[in-house]
Amino acid sequence: MASTAPDATTHLTTATDLVSRALELIPIPAVHIHLIDGAFELFAMNRAYRLAGLGVVAERSPMIVDLGPRIRAFLESQQLRIDTDWTLGDAVDCRYYRVTMARTFAWMHDRCTVSFIDQTSQIQTERSLRREMTTDSLTGLPNREGFEELIETVPDRSISAVLAVDIDRFGRLNSCLGSLAGDELLITVARRIKGALRGRDMLARIGGDQFGILMTIDDDREEAHALAERIQRTLTTPFRLTDYEISVECSVGIAYGGDDASDVAELIRHAQFAVKRAKASGLAESYLPQDFAIARAQFSMETALRRAIENRELRLAYQPICDLSSGRIVSFEALARWTDSSGQRHCPTTFIPVAEESGLIVPLGRWAIDEAARTLAAWDARFGGDCGVRLAVNLSAIQLQRDAIAPVVEAALASTGLAGDRFTLELTESAIVTDPDRIAKTMHALKALGTTLAMDDFGTGYSNLAYLQKLPIDVLKIDRSFVTGMLADRDKVSIVRAILSLAQALGMKTTAEGVETFDLAQTLTALGCTYGQGYFYARPLEADAAYAMIVPAEAG
Ligand code: C2E
Ligand code: CA
Ligand code: CA
Repeated sequence: MASTAPDATTHLTTATDLVSRALELIPIPAVHIHLIDGAFELFAMNRAYRLAGLGVVAERSPMIVDLGPRIRAFLESQQLRIDTDWTLGDAVDCRYYRVTMARTFAWMHDRCTVSFIDQTSQIQTERSLRREMTTDSLTGLPNREGFEELIETVPDRSISAVLAVDIDRFGRLNSCLGSLAGDELLITVARRIKGALRGRDMLARIGGDQFGILMTIDDDREEAHALAERIQRTLTTPFRLTDYEISVECSVGIAYGGDDASDVAELIRHAQFAVKRAKASGLAESYLPQDFAIARAQFSMETALRRAIENRELRLAYQPICDLSSGRIVSFEALARWTDSSGQRHCPTTFIPVAEESGLIVPLGRWAIDEAARTLAAWDARFGGDCGVRLAVNLSAIQLQRDAIAPVVEAALASTGLAGDRFTLELTESAIVTDPDRIAKTMHALKALGTTLAMDDFGTGYSNLAYLQKLPIDVLKIDRSFVTGMLADRDKVSIVRAILSLAQALGMKTTAEGVETFDLAQTLTALGCTYGQGYFYARPLEADAAYAMIVPAEAG
């Protein structure tokens, strides 16, 4: 017997040795494990394994402690190889491994080789990229994608609510303050909103001027409204930015996880649909199914309008603008009209905003300029020379931001042979406040073509008198809301008087919109207003009917 013992030892040493040498050929940490009497033993390991600090004594090895059950399950299975992910360590010092368990024969239920691919740096890079992609760099809050992920992790979405908080008129604030102060404002707003939240509510920045909040509601939807009110209150308390003191108003839309949103993205969209109604009402609004219907109707109107522009279903109507003292027609305002293929007429107050929101205002606006020029050239041709009136075309703020208007007008003039002074362009105040420098350039370019510039709907916007003085504006159009019914309303009369004296001081002419009666026309003349436009003179007319107003003889 004495002779067999050294043999067995030699045999064993040789086996360990062989396995160890085989393991050394594996370039990553690898260990050969035996299961003896139900306990693990680390039979052999390579140098990389020792250096990785995965534990060289089975009982104390974190690898055996964590992976033991998985290794056992593998040995009990019939598989030759299994891959699994394993994380070692805590959040501060953490390593990620791809672990492979392998054996030569499926019946070897007591031994296998376990090897480890360290994926830590790869996973950390991926995570930081992911974090960057889901974080808003300005505020450090989750962005829209991050917000979706956040909501995704909520175990019971039926007791949660999503709020969309939209800063009112942020574009205007941003352009008045400059983008640096705009950034500062957003950061401060984020901080203020955060202060209004309860500890477990989560905040994200889901758009340029829109924040998202995820909150748990304990069966009481009023909590969401209460939070919305707290946010509105905290934002209206004036902020101190570098050089300014301002307060911010916001609109809040709320969608509940328990309602009919099919996924997270839709839940957020619902809150955003509700914001639109909140903007109109000034209150926090909860999502209603009709908001979706409205959004869908808008979308289908957008599709129909796109087709209408392509198929030339739009027309222009022409409404005269008269010299108040002589009653003579000096120009016509061109107003878009749309009758769709089913014969339904759409109101410009509905389809122009849709065109603006969808960007269709750019082709629509170009068409209006071309069409107006063609009409005026046709009138001149019929008249046999300059027919004596100008045409006024409306320009939307969005159109001024997105399109190069001056070249479009120049091309329309060139192709019809009209002089620039036959054209008036009507701009609204909102166009000027959103991007004053750019608009100023456009206005000067339009003036250089010889056109007249009118400020439309004057008095309804946020006129900054400093801009007015600097810009080449020829005419102020006093908004209809101050004119119609003015004879019975002292306040309206004072506003109209104020606008008239302002225009006089700035050397501008004035047009009163909404002149519906003879008395109004007379009063406005007495007050010194230059032109009048309204149903008293005529409603918007077809081109032929409009021409008949300037050349009645020909119409017969
Ligand atoms: P706006 O530029 O203020 O045009 C004047 C509006 O007042 C027209 O409405 C006109 O029909 C209406 N109106 C004229 N006189 C009277 C009156 O005496 N009483 C009353 N109650 N209303 C009167 P409309 O045609 O519905 O146009 C609405 C708005 O749509 C326009 O307001 C303008 O902002 C926009 N719009 C129309 N056509 C175009 C276009 O081609 N391009 C752009 N960008 N906007 C357009
Ligand atoms: Ca107008
Ligand atoms: Ca107007």
